[in-house]
Amino acid sequence: MPQYYIWTIGCQMNKAESERLGSYLEQLGYQATVSVEQADLVLLNSCVVRQSAENRVLNKLNSLKSLKGSRPNLILAVTGCLVDSQLDQLKQSFPDVDYFFKPGEFPQWLGKDKMDSVLPRYPSPSTFVTIIQGCNNFCSYCIVPYRRGREKSRPMAEIADEVKELVHRGAKEVTLLGQNVDSYGHDLPDRPDLADLLSKLNTIEGLARIRFLTNHPKDMSPRLIEAVATLDKVCEQLSLPVQAGDNDILRAMRRGYTVEHYYQLINEIRKRIPEVALSTDVIVGFPSESERQFQQTVDLLSELKFDTVHVAAYSPRAGTIASRELEDNVPSAEKRKRLHKIEQLQEKIATEINTQLWGKLVEVLAEGRKEDKWWGRTRSGKLVFFSDPGDFPGKLVKVRIEKTSPWSLQGKVELNRID
Ligand code: SF4
Repeated sequence: MPQYYIWTIGCQMNKAESERLGSYLEQLGYQATVSVEQADLVLLNSCVVRQSAENRVLNKLNSLKSLKGSRPNLILAVTGCLVDSQLDQLKQSFPDVDYFFKPGEFPQWLGKDKMDSVLPRYPSPSTFVTIIQGCNNFCSYCIVPYRRGREKSRPMAEIADEVKELVHRGAKEVTLLGQNVDSYGHDLPDRPDLADLLSKLNTIEGLARIRFLTNHPKDMSPRLIEAVATLDKVCEQLSLPVQAGDNDILRAMRRGYTVEHYYQLINEIRKRIPEVALSTDVIVGFPSESERQFQQTVDLLSELKFDTVHVAAYSPRAGTIASRELEDNVPSAEKRKRLHKIEQLQEKIATEINTQLWGKLVEVLAEGRKEDKWWGRTRSGKLVFFSDPGDFPGKLVKVRIEKTSPWSLQGKVELNRID
């Protein structure tokens, strides 16, 4: 039986696509292997959102050269955001690669041309569904629109059918994915929006939870906030990347909103959904970011107190507006210092937030087992570990929290299972 090996880095969209590619290869008779040396087909699902990610992909490709040299029949394929429209150039740079195909597409040599038509045979209890590909925003630092192309929404009926089938195959929770899910539907005939899609999915029997990411602060509508507040299966968890706490930096990033708008949005969300868990993304060391402007970001994070903050140091990506027009003039050591300061601040905030859950009974969807413990997530997305001899994957259980940390919680299952 031929064997396949998939190497994935990057966002959840890449992970979802790799899961589907793996499942499809199994339907074709391939078997998964954890050893790249034993594989007959090696597939790299790449990410280039940061220079460090692209470097990892290039290193991986270089390391596969000798394998291909010693085993000429090995099939080497590459997808993900490394694959842009300049295919000829890629083929020239990497002659050992047999196939390149764009993210979201299915390689024709495998007999399909659409990723969406391939579902994992045994989806995990919490699975991913892409609802919109691409992005129309062109934030000045971001390479994604150049690699994933313009926004393209999938029809609501197609997504609903897919979610029903995933539930039929064992999924309990779906996370709807898109670079900007708030743009969902504007390119479809009846112009439905994400709130319409959530209402439709909320009626699917057997589906317990719905999440979605990523939102854009300039596009998140009151209708969407209302949908999260009122639809019982939609989890109280929102990701809303702010990127910077200073208006001049936001303008240079071409984000399309102000700090004042962002504060107002968070206040509205918290008023309507008091138990909401919020996450955000921040870039430090953007070109010309002064100490004072960085402090504005620190102040915003201290004031708004997010459950999770993803922080990255700015690195220019060739081909973006920022790399062409702005000088990368914040020294690396300063970027590292700012990054560290935010990590420390967030550790303190997450400790405070999670400590409040001590002694509480929370609903957890058990997703798997790691060593001697089960793990799963609350509706608000908190990672919970619990010990129990029971058999839980895919079940909703109630767990009494006995230990908290900034990154996860630990507890004990109480008898009242609620599935
Ligand atoms: S919204 Fe901005 S950061 Fe997000 S994918 Fe689109 S261009 Fe990139």
